Parts: sequence; structure tokens; C-alpha cells
Amino acid sequence: MPSRFERSQLKRYGISVFLVCAAVVATIAIQPLFGGRAPLTAFTVAVILSASYGGLGPGLLATALSVAIVKLKFENSVFTLFRVQSTLGLFTFIGVAVTLVIERFRRANAQLEQAKDRLELANEELSRRTKALAQSNEELQRFAYGLSHDLQNPLRTVSVFTERLASHNEAGLDEHSRQSIAFILQGVHRMQEMIQGLLAYSTATNDEDQTNATDCNAVLAKVTEDLRGAIEESGASVTWDPLPIVEAHQARLHQVFLNLIGNAIKYRSDAKCDVHVSAKRNGGEWLFAVKDNGIGVDMQYADKIFGVFERLHGSGQYSGSGIGLAVCRAVIQRQGGRIWVESAPGKGSTFFFTISA
Ligand code: ADP
Repeated sequence: MPSRFERSQLKRYGISVFLVCAAVVATIAIQPLFGGRAPLTAFTVAVILSASYGGLGPGLLATALSVAIVKLKFENSVFTLFRVQSTLGLFTFIGVAVTLVIERFRRANAQLEQAKDRLELANEELSRRTKALAQSNEELQRFAYGLSHDLQNPLRTVSVFTERLASHNEAGLDEHSRQSIAFILQGVHRMQEMIQGLLAYSTATNDEDQTNATDCNAVLAKVTEDLRGAIEESGASVTWDPLPIVEAHQARLHQVFLNLIGNAIKYRSDAKCDVHVSAKRNGGEWLFAVKDNGIGVDMQYADKIFGVFERLHGSGQYSGSGIGLAVCRAVIQRQGGRIWVESAPGKGSTFFFTISA
């Protein structure tokens, strides 16, 4: 039994022979129209069709068959319809050339098809992996949320019982024990801060993306209200240009401004602290800028400070858990925007972020 390949080879060559036979019939049929002379057009068409369908072998076979039949049957009556068909030699040349060119196109086409198939496969694999990654990311975020939530209770127990222990034995504790208890409570407090930061981060990344038309001027008014204590204590001035109404998750946008302005006040320099918020339309998005005149950031850490628990100025002088900017980045990216900083030590910082207009 012939294999699939052999069968298809047979079919290609068979069709080539059939086309040449059809060309013979057609030529005989139209001969009277040309006063008994025979144009080679039908044979040319047969060669082109054979090469297009079957490739190099069938194309050459059609050329050879055509030449042989024309020589035997029509040689004395060959009619020159096109100048290039004026001799049988020229016809042979054209037949072979057309076959070669068509074969080239066929091969290029086959390679293109193969490349397309490979690309489709790679695409499928990519979307499968992206889906798996998104799923495991979601699971990880749920795990982090659950873990940080559950960790709060044992920590509270440690701090409550340590304080109780200290107050019950107040009189009997020496200086060293008192100090140790203070360190334990400090550690617990710091851990509670970090856990709350983690909770805020996973809420920001897990929350539903419910957006509304949000007036940024109203958000800024509420943020400065929330920061009233820090503003009064530091003597900072927080100002803003007229800001747009944007489509955003209002509570999350509030959190972004709260973190950025809170940081601008926290990382102030010795000069009077000035914080200014502005926004300008940039193509299809709004570009927001929160500018301060604080201690600034070395640009080599410009990306790092947006990571979870990454702090540059964390040694005692400034409180915090290194999660504020990570939350800002998660919120902005979740809404399809970007966030970055331009800064220099001692020269203040400007935090930029985008929201689609
Ligand atoms: P936290 O303030 O709790 O440390 P953040 O994630 O908000 O955490 O900030 C990360 C780090 O980026 C900070 O520790 C600080 O070093 C730096 N930083 C953030 N905002 C400013 C700012 N306005 N000026 C200078 N440094 C800043």
C-alpha cells in the first residue's frame, strides 16, 4: 500500500499530466479560431499550474511533456501569441524558469507556514505560563494576607504577657531585666508595624478594581486633613495646583497621596518643608508630580525604594516599615500606570506617577 507521502507525490505528478492533457485538448479546440495554427498559451498555463500545485518535479514534468507533445503534434503549426513563445527552445526555457521561481515561492511559503505554526505554539505556551503565574501569584498573595493576619494574635499575646510580667514583678526587676523587656516590646512593636504594612500591601494588590470618577482636589484635601498632626508639628506647607478628575479607585489614590506626602514630610531637610502637587495632561494620561525639598534619594536606589521592606533611611531616626512606596507602586501599576522618582541627595525629590486620562 502506498504511504501518505507516496500518494500525495502520485497525485501531484498525476495532476501535472492531467493539466498537460487538458492543454492538448484546449489547443486542438481553439486551433480553428487561429486558422489551424496552435498557440502555446494553454501549455504555458499547464506548466504554471503544475509548478504551483506540485512544485519543482511536476513543473519540470509538465514542461518536458508539453515540449514533447508540441514537437510531435503541433510543431509545424505553432502560433506565436506572445513574442517569448516564438520558439520551442524559448518555451522550454520559460517553462523551467517559471517552475524554479514558483518552487522558490512555495518553499518560502512553506517555511513561513512552519514559522507561523511555531510562533502559535510558543504563544499558546506563553499564555499558559502567564495564566499559571498569575494563579500562583494570587495564591501567594492570599497566603501572605492570611499569614500576616494570623500572626497578629500571637504577637499581641507576647506583648500583653510581657507587659503583665513586667508590671507584676516591677519591684524585683534589675536594670538589665528592665532593658531586656523594653527590647522585647520594641521588637514586637516593630514586627506589628511590618505585619500591618504587609496587610496593607496585600490589600492594595488584592482589592477589587472598582474605579470611579475621583476628584483629586477633594482627595488632597482629605489627605492633608489626615496628616494635620505631622504638618503642624513640622511646620510644612502642602500646596497643589488645580487637579483633574480621574477614573480611579478613590481609597487607593488617597493611600498613594498619603504615603507620598507623608514621606515628603518625614524625610524633610533642615529647611522649611515645602510639598507641592501638580498634574499635567500627557497624551492619553495624566502625569502627577509630588515634589519636596527634603533630604533626597541617591538615584542609584531610585528603583530599590519601591520594593517591599526596602528602606534607605531606616536607622532609628525615621519611623516606618519600608512598605509605603511598594503599596504606591502596586496601586498605580494595578491601574495601568507607572511610578518613579527623580531626586538627588540634599536636593529634594519629585515622585511622578501616571493615571490614564
Ligand atoms: P518607609 O518610609 O516606611 O521607610 P517607604 O516605602 O515609604 O517606606 O519608603 C522607602 C524608602 O524610600 C524610605 O525608607 C526612604 O529611605 C526613601 N524615601 C521615600 N520617600 C522619600 C522622600 N520623599 N525623600 C527621601 N527619601 C524618601
